[in-house]
Amino acid sequence: MFAVGMLRGKPGVHSLEVPAPEINEPDEVLVRMKEVGLDGTDFNIVRYNLQDIAEGRNEIVLGHEGIGVVEAVGSAVKTLAPGDLVSITVRRGCGHCEPCLHNQSDMCMTGLFTERGIHKMDGLLTQYVVDKEQYMVKVPPQIRKLAVFTEPLSIVEKGVEQIRVIQSRLPWYCPHVEHGLDSPEWGGCKVALVVGAGPLGLLATALIRLARTITYTTDIVPEDHPKVHLLGDMGATYVDARAKTPEQIVDFCCTPIGELNMIFEASGAADTALKLIPFMSRSSIYVMTGIPRGDLKIELDAAQLVRQVVRYNQVVVGSVNSNRRHFEMALGDIARINESFSGMLDEMVSRRLPLEDYAKAFTIDDPRHIKTVMEIEPW
Ligand SMILES: [Zn+2]
Ligand SMILES: [Zn+2]
Repeated sequence: MFAVGMLRGKPGVHSLEVPAPEINEPDEVLVRMKEVGLDGTDFNIVRYNLQDIAEGRNEIVLGHEGIGVVEAVGSAVKTLAPGDLVSITVRRGCGHCEPCLHNQSDMCMTGLFTERGIHKMDGLLTQYVVDKEQYMVKVPPQIRKLAVFTEPLSIVEKGVEQIRVIQSRLPWYCPHVEHGLDSPEWGGCKVALVVGAGPLGLLATALIRLARTITYTTDIVPEDHPKVHLLGDMGATYVDARAKTPEQIVDFCCTPIGELNMIFEASGAADTALKLIPFMSRSSIYVMTGIPRGDLKIELDAAQLVRQVVRYNQVVVGSVNSNRRHFEMALGDIARINESFSGMLDEMVSRRLPLEDYAKAFTIDDPRHIKTVMEIEPW
């Protein structure tokens, strides 16, 4: 069976010949892959040769944003049947800790998890995949053309959920009853800064804008970039981070309300990410989802920083991966996002390529590129 991945000791992306998987357990499902989205994680794994291959193996199949059609099910499978479209979750629990034992491996306590296409487990850039029913989330047929966004949106759903869970500590006050923290328009009269307008930053902007939040999104692209156009469609304001210091960015966001209620970091740019902390508003929250590479040492005033975080009741929280519940939340929001913001999900896809064009797919030479989708089997 054709697959795309990495070979131990051999940099770059390669075509692989792997055995076709079979159902061996009653709770397993065989899926024929349809589409796999590529993101910064995939590109960085290849570009920086961050191979993370299981012991005893010499290859790993890449790809972790995948949807496919159920081909066959084991005898104990109850919720899926052949023909169903599914989105496949990424992380497989350690089997030891309570979060993993309760299908919340995104909160694993031991670090002994694996991840499809990223960490020691084969991914989805191939024709067939077998996995357990609990890791497959059924996609409503009417959103099949958007469903490749389920995984990245689930990451954002988890990050935004952290904001709502943690900020329930506050009286989420404004003069409008419809802006309560539990209501769909919970962001009304609040201000957010999204750092980075890559696919995750754009999806975070979308989700936060759906909640009516006044939203600013930074990036380092010129005003005529398609990302800036998408931000405009969402009613968000683009802030060119090249033209402003972190202090100036926060000042700019604070202009309408006087405070910045939430920051969502999705760039992985460690320098900017850290330098925004000293300018956080009182009682605000800062969610970090970008993962920087390499080392970066900077000098900061430790006493000032700790004093500020304590005195201002500030929260800085990291959020990684997502679980089945976040996939379900994403599936519930995908159509609403696309319809509310002029077909933005369709527009985010810069190119669709067949799996055979993997070498081209992992070469980004268009500065206007946002998202690549591999079409494994046409609709
Ligand atoms: Zn665990
Ligand atoms: Zn309000």
